[in-house]
Amino acid sequence: MDGLIEEVAKLLANSKHAVVFTGAGISAESGIPTFRGQNGLWKRFDPEEVASIQGFMKNPKAFWNFARELILKTKAKPNAGHYAIAELEKIGIVKAVITQNIDMLHQKAGSSKVLELHGSLEFVDCLDCGKAYRWDDLIDKIERGEVSCDECGSPYLKPRIVFFGESLPKDVLSEAIEEAKKSDVFIVVGSSLQVYPAASIPFVAKESGAKLVIINVDPTDKDWLFDVVIYGKAGEILPKIVEKVKEYCHVK
Ligand code: NAD
Ligand code: ZN
Repeated sequence: MDGLIEEVAKLLANSKHAVVFTGAGISAESGIPTFRGQNGLWKRFDPEEVASIQGFMKNPKAFWNFARELILKTKAKPNAGHYAIAELEKIGIVKAVITQNIDMLHQKAGSSKVLELHGSLEFVDCLDCGKAYRWDDLIDKIERGEVSCDECGSPYLKPRIVFFGESLPKDVLSEAIEEAKKSDVFIVVGSSLQVYPAASIPFVAKESGAKLVIINVDPTDKDWLFDVVIYGKAGEILPKIVEKVKEYCHVK
């Protein structure tokens, strides 16, 4: 394990354009459950019902009932993994973070260039009258299970996240692909790489000649694509990598 950590630290120290790609796993140590996996939310909720655009248009209340589970996302705090990535940006090594997460924890940890492929929970829009809300201002209503528009009474309040069946924001996706093309080191952290088109982005980096690293608790069916595969927790592995990078780059 220590050998692999050193190998990744060397790749980073010698890189010109490192990019990090994250999934739900990086936020697991902040107390946010992943969707798949043992304690995943999809064991208790049907994603077709609560997280697809068709399900939402049929019954927005089912989403908001599920949304009680998401409140903890917006109350959670970044963990050592998020901070390590922010630090790598600060010392000039990581140029961008591409995330599938909607929890805003990278920004809270201090990362400034964050491409949110699936949107975030920051804002909620009324699909009928267009009034915009901040998620934080709706928390009482969500907890009481009474979410509707103050202005027009519509139940169709939709957070600015990408539901299953919706396409990704085009500009964010193309910027993420550009970053993957520019990258010379591309590190995936905490993603099962099952959700497309996000999961195709590491392939773009590989085709452009980047060295690929994956840090995950469990294996994925795409581990063969990667030059370095580390099984472990993001919050434990990433700070060790940062420590080594600083040694190699003589940063205090
Ligand atoms: P996923 O749930 O499919 O896979 C999570 C991966 O993280 C697994 O491979 C697991 O081995 C790994 N993992 C678990 N704990 C870890 C840890 N401590 N350190 C490192 N790795 C760990 O997640 P995904 O690939 O991101 O796909 C899920 C989809 O659901 C995404 O599209 C995302 O938008 C959404 N989602 C977001 C959040 C969030 O915002 N925090 C949480 C759950 C799901
Ligand atoms: Zn309205």
